This record gives sequence, C-alpha cells and structure tokens, in this order.
Amino acid sequence: MAADCIFCSIVDGSIPSRTVYEDSETLAFLDANPLAPGHTLVIPREHYARLDDLDASLAGSVLETLHELVEPVESAVEADGSTVAFNNGPAAGQEIDHVHGHIIPRFDGDGGGPIHAVAGSPPELEESELDSIAESITDSHDGE
Ligand code: 5GP
Ligand code: ZN
Repeated sequence: MAADCIFCSIVDGSIPSRTVYEDSETLAFLDANPLAPGHTLVIPREHYARLDDLDASLAGSVLETLHELVEPVESAVEADGSTVAFNNGPAAGQEIDHVHGHIIPRFDGDGGGPIHAVAGSPPELEESELDSIAESITDSHDGE
C-alpha cells in the first residue's frame, strides 16, 4: 500500500469504485472519467508504479484478468472492439503511478484513433539503427 495512492485506496475500500472483477492478486473497476462507456481499469492489488516493476507471475495475472474481461466489457456496452493498453511511465501519459491496464471499448466510426496515433512524430530509422536497437533489446532481456 502506497500513501496517497488513489488505486491503493480503492483496493482497501477507502475510496469507492464500481468494481467489476476481483481475485487474490488483481482488481478491475470502471474508470471514473471514461473515454467510452464501459472503460475499465485492471490493477494488481499490490502497489507497483510500472508494468516492468511487476514480477512475471503478477504480470501474467494482470494479463489474465484483462483477457478475462475484454469480452464481458465489450458485450456490456455492445462495442465493436476495444483498445487494451498501458500508459507505462509519465512520459507515456501515466497519471496514476499504480500500474493499470485500460480496456477502452471501441465502436465503428467512434472517431478515435489506433495505438499508432500515440506517437508525436514517428522517427525515420536507418536499417543499421533498427539492427542495433533489436540487438540491444535481445541482449538486455533475461530470456525468460
Ligand atoms: P492513466 O492516465 O494514469 O493511464 O489513467 C488513469 C485513469 O484513472 C484515468 O483514466 C482516470 O480517469 C482514472 N481515475 C482517476 N482517478 C480515479 C478514481 O478515483 N476512480 C476511478 N475509478 N478512476 C480514476
Ligand atoms: Zn497504489
């Protein structure tokens, strides 16, 4: 539990939420300022700031809950699809530093954009730069 964390307060019940799912490790509730009807947030009960702070098991549990809820969320509001995403870190627009995945129902012709719309100005990268980035990622993950 982190002091002054709204989502920790939702977990402990001191701030109310429209909870739609809970299990021993995760919780899901409606977003208070929805981008679409049915906009749902999935969080780990324990406080971690970023997705990469979770261990693999807890990350798996969060993904399981997202996976479990996509269809019920979409069908509750008769959506045609959904955008499922994390704002990971302040640079990516994360405002609440308790990791959370968004399920945002989407509707044909809703005027919203794809995930590709999040980048300000996409870079033009040389083949050698792409090779070097790919190599760096490959070298730095633990392979598990
Ligand atoms: P972020 O920008 O950090 O990825 O998203 C935070 C989300 O939390 C926003 O969509 C915002 O509407 C939602 N939110 C902020 N405060 C509360 C709250 O007290 N209750 C609920 N249910 N959602 C909240
Ligand atoms: Zn928290």
